[in-house]
Amino acid sequence: MNLPLIIANWKLNGNKKIFSTLLNFLKKNKKVFKQKCKLNIAPSHIYLYKFREIIKENQWINLSAQNVDIHVSGAFTGEISALMLKDMLVTHVIIGHSERRNFHNENEYLIAEKFNLLKKQNLIPILCIGETIEEKKDNKTIEICKKQIDIIFELVGKKAFYNTIIAYEPIWSIGSGNSANPKEVQFILSTLRTYIKEKSSSFLEDFYLLYGGSVNENNIHFFCKEKDIDGFLVGTACLNFDIFLNILKKI
Ligand code: PEP
Repeated sequence: MNLPLIIANWKLNGNKKIFSTLLNFLKKNKKVFKQKCKLNIAPSHIYLYKFREIIKENQWINLSAQNVDIHVSGAFTGEISALMLKDMLVTHVIIGHSERRNFHNENEYLIAEKFNLLKKQNLIPILCIGETIEEKKDNKTIEICKKQIDIIFELVGKKAFYNTIIAYEPIWSIGSGNSANPKEVQFILSTLRTYIKEKSSSFLEDFYLLYGGSVNENNIHFFCKEKDIDGFLVGTACLNFDIFLNILKKI
């Protein structure tokens, strides 16, 4: 494995004080972070500004947003645009997270539109895909993931996945403490990599396949052994700084 890409998804957590502490913690442990991973932090939108300074000073951290609107400006109360995100030095945006698919009724077409917009705006989509527990029991994981990928190809074309990230996140695993089996994840990701490569012709460059779902200090080591896992989307375990650092030390 090259240096894994680690995306810390803070979801609806944190406040001004916690993010100030996080910034100091990152600065203090810069050496470990740089040695162990390519780090990407995804705070809530209203705290993105706090990271501007560290992003400007240190190229070793990238900044992600947790959502984006499909419009870039106009009368869309409450939304955040790609232009605003770029103004905050954001380079990546998480889309298709199961929490947005489920709790905010985001369907595959809206997610594909967001993906398309991000590409046009030169922002890097982090597309989350994955199956429910019922779909897993029915052996439909690969089928479901391919369907979620196909809809992007249909709208964006065969270059769609150039310079993008896909996070395979089984829905049953997210936040549950039950991670997927690393060998099964390896099989799924290698199947999806081949699938996407074939559909992309020669245009698949700078493409990452991540795993997300209850990654912690006890299991990361097993995932790191698998060759098609390029990194991790981490939720719960990034909220505790000591655990987060321990995770890195286990890579
Ligand atoms: C996530 O929500 O993207 C995630 C991976 O969460 P957790 O690590 O808590 O399972």
